[in-house]
Amino acid sequence: MEFNLTEEQQHIRAAVRELCRKFTGEYWRKLDRDRAYPEEFVQTLTGAGWLAALIPEEYGGAGLGITEASIILEEINYSGGNSAACHAQMYIMGSLLRYGNAEQKSFYLPKIARGELRLQAFGVTEPDAGSDTTKIKTAAVRQGDSYVINGQKVWTSRFQHSDLMLLLARTTPLEQVEERTGGLSLFLVDLHAAGDSIEARPIEAMVNHETNQVFINDLRVPASALIGEEGKGFRYILDSWNAERILIASECIGDGRWFVERASRYASDRVVFGKPIGTNQGVQFPIAQAHAHIEAADLMRYKAAWLFDSHQKCGAEANLAKLLASQASWEAANACLTTHGGYGLAVEYDIERKFRETRLYTVAPVNNNLVLAYIGQHVLHMPKSY
Ligand SMILES: Cc1cc2nc3c(=O)[nH]c(=O)nc-3n(C[C@H](O)[C@H](O)[C@H](O)COP(=O)(O)OP(=O)(O)OC[C@H]3O[C@@H](n4cnc5c(N)ncnc54)[C@H](O)[C@@H]3O)c2cc1C
Repeated sequence: MEFNLTEEQQHIRAAVRELCRKFTGEYWRKLDRDRAYPEEFVQTLTGAGWLAALIPEEYGGAGLGITEASIILEEINYSGGNSAACHAQMYIMGSLLRYGNAEQKSFYLPKIARGELRLQAFGVTEPDAGSDTTKIKTAAVRQGDSYVINGQKVWTSRFQHSDLMLLLARTTPLEQVEERTGGLSLFLVDLHAAGDSIEARPIEAMVNHETNQVFINDLRVPASALIGEEGKGFRYILDSWNAERILIASECIGDGRWFVERASRYASDRVVFGKPIGTNQGVQFPIAQAHAHIEAADLMRYKAAWLFDSHQKCGAEANLAKLLASQASWEAANACLTTHGGYGLAVEYDIERKFRETRLYTVAPVNNNLVLAYIGQHVLHMPKSY
């Protein structure tokens, strides 16, 4: 058993940490205030090749695994930044790499690796289906060499800053499939070619996150936009979902460490009643407890990432990692905010911003109730709630 990072992984961590140093709390704070996209940060990250980490070397990427991708995203959040502006390219990649055909890969991957195209939009959630993905209504109908797609998505993030969208649609109506996960298909949609047939309306959210309602009207895509086989999209998307859970866990771990470090430093420095507040166990123990939970979640994240990278089943571990890490980062966020007293709410400390940002991860990209349902039903074989 080996718990140490390899030399290459240590190098990646150090290099991303150095890159992130240039993007200070002030940078992220201003974006948050202006509700603006971190264009300069994403450009810099792309230029350094980090967003192409998962793309095989033959296509111009770094040929790394989810473990390394998770280190990159963890470092962004640990630096005080927010990976949500660009993390989708890492988790969507799983579907394209594993199920895309040779033409799709040789056409898109080099362009994504060079930063000429961004694959940052993932259109799954719909207003009427919510967490029940098999109930999505967006339908793709085959017409000759094309599919015509109609429907509506919600919470489609980074749409306005992406060139490509991975879209899930029904190609066989729910009533006609034997299993409800059947009849769903994945499409790689060129958003420039889509023109007016896709309309995005921004959703204002608690966090600075470019996310949208998306209306799809008679969108015609070539049949070559289909990923893998028609009707098997749900199976393909599971790989992206497992990657997503592992990567979100790593972002939460980065957040959690940021909160714990800030909290323990402040608890040691801030003197009230003639002594540092951290000498009081009421202040010290919640920080220590959060640290313990983050470290435990981190082990599950690495186990899940290792299983994913070695092409083994990782659904249970990916879900456990996401659950434990999102709970731990939220616990750390609360301990940090409480430790700072009133200053925890002052914008210039960045704590309230990170507090809002990390709160998202108990809700999305999958909410923790659904993660518990997965563990209860698929891991522990208890009866299904839905
Ligand atoms: C900022 C943000 C960005 C997002 N980005 C994207 C994106 O890029 N692409 C995308 O496709 N989606 C995205 N989402 C959507 C996200 O994945 C969903 O919000 C999430 O999956 C939950 O779905 P819902 O909001 O419809 O909640 P619902 O499914 O309506 O659930 C509401 C509540 O009911 C609970 N619940 C529902 N069913 C059960 C059950 N059987 N047992 C127990 N509890 C249950 C849930 O836990 C939840 O607390 C984003 C969401 C947010 C907030």
